[in-house]
Amino acid sequence: MTPFAKRNLIAFFSFVLFAGLLYGITVGVPLFKSHIQHLEFFSISLLIITSLSITFFWATLGVPGGMASFLVALVFLHRSLKALDPYYYTVLILAFFLNSFAGYRVFRKVTSLKQDHTVSSEKIEEDTNLIRNHAVNRQAEINAMEEKINSLLNLKGIADSLSIALSEEEVLKIAAEKTYGLFKGNTRVLLYAVDEMKSELTLSCTIKSEDRKPPVMKKGGIFERWAVKNMKSLLVKDVKEDFRFSLEGEEMSDDCKALIMKPLITESRVFGILRVDDVREGVFAQHELRLLDIVGELTAVALQNAKLYKRTEELAIRDSLTGLYVHRYFMERMDAEVKRAMRSGSSLALIMLDIDDFKRFNDDHGHMAGDVVLRIMGQKLISRVSAGDVVGRYGGEEFSFLALNSSREDAIKLAEAIREDIMSSAVTLRREKHSVTVSIGIAMFPEDAKLREELIWEADKRLYKAKSEGKNRVCAK
Ligand code: GH3
Ligand code: MG
Ligand code: MG
Repeated sequence: MTPFAKRNLIAFFSFVLFAGLLYGITVGVPLFKSHIQHLEFFSISLLIITSLSITFFWATLGVPGGMASFLVALVFLHRSLKALDPYYYTVLILAFFLNSFAGYRVFRKVTSLKQDHTVSSEKIEEDTNLIRNHAVNRQAEINAMEEKINSLLNLKGIADSLSIALSEEEVLKIAAEKTYGLFKGNTRVLLYAVDEMKSELTLSCTIKSEDRKPPVMKKGGIFERWAVKNMKSLLVKDVKEDFRFSLEGEEMSDDCKALIMKPLITESRVFGILRVDDVREGVFAQHELRLLDIVGELTAVALQNAKLYKRTEELAIRDSLTGLYVHRYFMERMDAEVKRAMRSGSSLALIMLDIDDFKRFNDDHGHMAGDVVLRIMGQKLISRVSAGDVVGRYGGEEFSFLALNSSREDAIKLAEAIREDIMSSAVTLRREKHSVTVSIGIAMFPEDAKLREELIWEADKRLYKAKSEGKNRVCAK
């Protein structure tokens, strides 16, 4: 029941009660005057109830209702009680006044309590709303924080994976895969590498959700060119609405509505572009670009590390003067190649070379000139390498050449070619041309030896034979 209906109902019953009471006083008092012994008590009871009903009017109809009912009751009481003893009449009317006044006071008190209650319940409701809003805001903050924590954990995972990648290919693969994992939805990750020879981009890796089309622009487009030129990250919320780019004449796929990209930069040079795009416009914002920025930075650092690692590895296995493999690495490779040849039943030739009278060359022309000769030797040997062949600097002015799948005739032919090449290539020293010769020993696997050490010993023996037979020659038996 609504408060309004409730109030009207109370007013209606009050009115009926009031009217009944007045009727009782008007008709009952004169009627019972001679029959009831204590008429005063009867009249007082009626009077009290009348006062109470007037209080009801105060409560339900307010001041006008209360005043009107009071006056009406006064008129009726006066008319019916005036027949009583004047003493009783005065007492009863005074009691009526007092009762009505008390009723009025009660009404005022109740009204003020009601108002207080209304005010405090409104305040409670207001506070509840504030607390509810606060809770909603806090929940949103918690959600955002959780999302941030997840992003950071993802980034940590990416950093961990990238930090243990040692080759450039591995770094790029991890970067693309992890970036794809970082962005949910209908995304596609493209990784472009800069081809320095042609100074253009080439698509080197694509990872996409199943319903995305493969990329059309294998050499990048207007957005990639912008990122390379400006060396800056790019956020395009809607490719068709971005005023910075005019897409007229541009080959564009309908499959991309929004994108973010990050140029991969090391030593102030762009070597790649990491791009994430989506079929829905407006899915990327600064937060996503920031994430991609971090992944790009991590990738660039990991790539630099991989390059350094490769360089260090090269330094460890390559002789710095000649560029040939060092003795230790040559022996490792030879070990592996001998085993492989043993398994496959193929043959290989070990060619050992030693510069003739190199001590005298050094004495005559200086150590620096000797180094130039050694460097030339390195170049000449590298130029003769076929697929799989291994060539190393065995010691000071001794070199070793492992020719795979080679017959004795092939090996002799190769060795003779090298010998003649070296003999005919002169070093100009103080305007005079000088050249060196080499002696060469060849041993064949498996005909001459079946073990690595035996093969070296045989080749060495033949090299010594070539020296003793007059130098500048090849000895294969
Ligand atoms: P043989 O014809 O018998 O081989 O005579 P050789 O003088 O070449 O032989 P030996 O082994 O006695 O001398 C090798 C010389 O090679 C000694 C050293 O001065 C020179 N040599 C070794 N390593 C280097 C190097 O790194 N640079 C220079 N310039 N010379 C080197
Ligand atoms: Mg020697
Ligand atoms: Mg020598």
